[in-house]
Amino acid sequence: MNDSDKSITRRSFFEKSVACIVGAGAGLAVTARDPLAQTGGNPQEQPPVPAADKPNIKEYRRLGRTGWKVSDISFGNAGMQTPELLEYAIERGINYVDTARQYYDMEKVIGQIFPAKRDKLFVATKLEPELFTPETTMEQITTAIDESLQRLNTDYVDCCQIHSVGDPNLGDKARIENKNIYEAFAKAKQAGKIRFWGASSHGPKMVEDFNWLIDNTDVDLIMPGMNYLSRGLEPVIEKARAKDIAVVAMKSLSAARKIDYSEFMQEGRTVRQALLKWMLAYANVDTISLTTRTFEEVDEFVAASGQKQLSPKEQKALNKYGMLLDKEYCRPGCAGCLGSCPKNVPIHDILRYSLYFNSYQREKYAIERYASLPASRNASQCAGCAGPCTSSCPYNIPVRNKLVKAHIELTV
Ligand code: SF4
Ligand code: SF4
Repeated sequence: MNDSDKSITRRSFFEKSVACIVGAGAGLAVTARDPLAQTGGNPQEQPPVPAADKPNIKEYRRLGRTGWKVSDISFGNAGMQTPELLEYAIERGINYVDTARQYYDMEKVIGQIFPAKRDKLFVATKLEPELFTPETTMEQITTAIDESLQRLNTDYVDCCQIHSVGDPNLGDKARIENKNIYEAFAKAKQAGKIRFWGASSHGPKMVEDFNWLIDNTDVDLIMPGMNYLSRGLEPVIEKARAKDIAVVAMKSLSAARKIDYSEFMQEGRTVRQALLKWMLAYANVDTISLTTRTFEEVDEFVAASGQKQLSPKEQKALNKYGMLLDKEYCRPGCAGCLGSCPKNVPIHDILRYSLYFNSYQREKYAIERYASLPASRNASQCAGCAGPCTSSCPYNIPVRNKLVKAHIELTV
């Protein structure tokens, strides 16, 4: 997308956002709690000011054909240390939680607040990415759903997802063309175990696989990686919207986890809030799922709810942010360099693990994911290579250098 296209899209986002849903909460009982009770026993995590002064969700959007009204900011629990954090988010008005079987014991942590808080949350989980192959049976999928229900301490999930479609590391499109998947989901719906099903992706074939799912299945929800720096997703999102398929954005803070600008602080906001406002202006996104690790992050993210207009200062800082990361950030859904590598190194995955390591405080996860790659396909292969991947990247990212650095960081 060139600059002029981008400005047109941005304008249309704002125009559409005027008509977007301003919903009431889905029956949320938002109650003030003693802040000291929210600490989970860790004084470091006490909210610094009384709960009455805390930000609350200001906008609920219709989650496509599910009909749910969900908070425009939602809770990704990949880094959650304690269930009290999710309870605190519920008090701030968040009513959508995203988790996955792959996130260690995160389903179980959510399950600790059930059954008491079950009716306050739309719960979306993802089955293991490796479960989905051309040979996967209905029984295997049903068993995986049952395991997630048990881990979540509930008898239904609101949305069960295929984790990571569009990832060539996991196989080609044959893995999602397996009819057993959709028959198993239909059966689970009939049994009341799942209410809806969907698919998530930030992989190189994301657009291709989402298009296939939208054209060939009754998918209820898609969860694409998308943010200020990603490109080319609008057509598939508009196609999903035309079929009333829910759209949940992820990876929306891209590499902004550790970045801040003093000029934002003068306005009392952070660059992450400006990035969220930029995303919230896009009415075709129903909610933004954000990995949330601290009480302060809950407040920071919730404070952006309902806001879509960037101040000139915020826009200026986002421009700077974009320039800073333009040659650093590997875009979700891009496959530009993959065909250039003679060793079939999963470049996009390794750069993402590096991001988890450096910016998301998910060091253990990053190291484990990297260790799961065979040595014949990890970045040790880059040492003696001229690096054709670098010249293949349309964003001029110094791919080879970043891979060499990632190998050093992620090898223990
Ligand atoms: S530098 Fe590494 S990723 Fe790039 S082409 Fe060579 S082996 Fe492949
Ligand atoms: S390194 Fe560049 S070309 Fe390769 S996947 Fe990332 S953004 Fe695309």
